[in-house]
Amino acid sequence: MTEDLKLKEVQDLMRRYYFMRDSARGLYATFTWFVEEVGELAEALISNDRERSEEEIADVLAWLASIANLLNIDLNEAFKKKYLNPEPPH
Ligand SMILES: [Mg+2]
Repeated sequence: MTEDLKLKEVQDLMRRYYFMRDSARGLYATFTWFVEEVGELAEALISNDRERSEEEIADVLAWLASIANLLNIDLNEAFKKKYLNPEPPH
């Protein structure tokens, strides 16, 4: 991989690929898929499987972006608002 993606580009990509499908599925069903991916990440971590952990982390971010898209929340702005402070939030 040669290209660094910005968070906005991640969210835009997910919107372009999946917004129609996510909209048809609905917020709560999409959230269920997100939770499923968190579960898969948990399994990968428990298995100490680094390659699979990497894959599942990507899945979790992808589905999180889908949820943000359905809520019309800008991931970049939300993250900056919460975490881009002189001191880390408690
Ligand atoms: Mg997965």
